[in-house]
Amino acid sequence: MDHFLYRDGALFAEDVPVSEIAAQVGTPFYCYSTATFERHFRLFDEALEGTDHLICYAMKAASNQAILKTLAALGAGMDVVSGGEYARAKAAGVPGDRIVFSGVGKTYDEIHAALTGGIRQFNVESEPEMAVINKVALELGVRAPITVRVNPDVDAKTHAKIATGKSENKFGIPISRAREVYAHAASLPGLEVIGIDVHIGSQLTQLEPFRLAYEKVAALTEELRADGHNIKRLDLGGGLGIPYERSNEAPPLPVEYGAMVKETLGHLNCEIEIEPGRLIAGNAGIMVSKVIYVKEGEDRKFMIVDGAMNDLIRPAMYEAHHDIVPVVEAEPGTEPQAYDIVGPVCETGDTFAKARNMSPVAPDDLIAFRSAGAYGAVMASEYNTRPLIPEVLVNGDQFAVIRRRPTFDEMINRDTIPEWL
Ligand SMILES: *Cc1c(COP(=O)(O)O)cnc(C)c1O
Repeated sequence: MDHFLYRDGALFAEDVPVSEIAAQVGTPFYCYSTATFERHFRLFDEALEGTDHLICYAMKAASNQAILKTLAALGAGMDVVSGGEYARAKAAGVPGDRIVFSGVGKTYDEIHAALTGGIRQFNVESEPEMAVINKVALELGVRAPITVRVNPDVDAKTHAKIATGKSENKFGIPISRAREVYAHAASLPGLEVIGIDVHIGSQLTQLEPFRLAYEKVAALTEELRADGHNIKRLDLGGGLGIPYERSNEAPPLPVEYGAMVKETLGHLNCEIEIEPGRLIAGNAGIMVSKVIYVKEGEDRKFMIVDGAMNDLIRPAMYEAHHDIVPVVEAEPGTEPQAYDIVGPVCETGDTFAKARNMSPVAPDDLIAFRSAGAYGAVMASEYNTRPLIPEVLVNGDQFAVIRRRPTFDEMINRDTIPEWL
């Protein structure tokens, strides 16, 4: 459920008409709903009620400072995957002891910054990385809290580009080698081994792959404890999917996920950490765009809009579906038309949808891409020298631009001319 609903045929973001925001900030833009972020965070919090837990929002899904502050105010921790994200989390006021550092390629400098600024734990993904964390910790005279990310070799049954838990993926260490790797970690004086980490992929629409992975983690916890390790925290990753196509998708609910977590891992008395990104942010945001032209092709109709693949890359990158809706609903009984909905970028891949049925549109009409809050703005680029589009946050009847559109001069002046030119 989200807070983008029609009132008398006009799309609202909470209590604000979307067309009013468009008039003020221009199109295209991202629009987020505070109430939806809050609702999704609470669903997870309630789902894990009765367990000692921390929800570390995977901020790579949507990392605007205003979004981080909104979630941090509810008690969220952050899952970061780069030095830049770590700095963003700190800048939003998130304390180090609520920041978890994930990712396969943490550099010396990133590890140094996190150990200096405070960190809840590193989720270690390889032995070479373990050696560097140990080295930095010893240099700083501290012990770095770590979990090891294990790769449980389960099929997440999601898009190949976002599956991370099969043995062929680059993530984590094979679970079959875990005992050996934990023994090595325990021998390094700069490390404090505190738990186990697993994350098998994104946009999972079934509970079964999670269950298989968590059962393996449960068994491993007992083995590692028998080996003498103090396993007190389990980081279960993110990955729960969202309904992108509302008419025919119903992924598991957070409450069902939470029940399965308690069932598979509850008996171990560990602190539970989860790292949801998409489920918290995805349906909390839309991308609003304007129709530029309707072009009649030989056998199809093209709706050319001012948003493009550089603004929302998911359809081009993952063949992702986004529901696309008019900001002003057509009169009841209007016959829908099939449109290929495309952006202005010079690539055939700049196609959002093919033969999508929509009520007829005309130039200057507004449309909204639903479920664009996660992996939308954060994956945008300035390809074709198109400025990064603004982000707007709605809260009840107020809204604010939380990142403005840069001017052409600002974009151009980031280039520098060498002295020989
Ligand atoms: C991307 C990622 C997440 C978040 O995944 P979602 O599908 O957005 O919930 C969590 N943990 C790690 C390690 C990730 O890489």
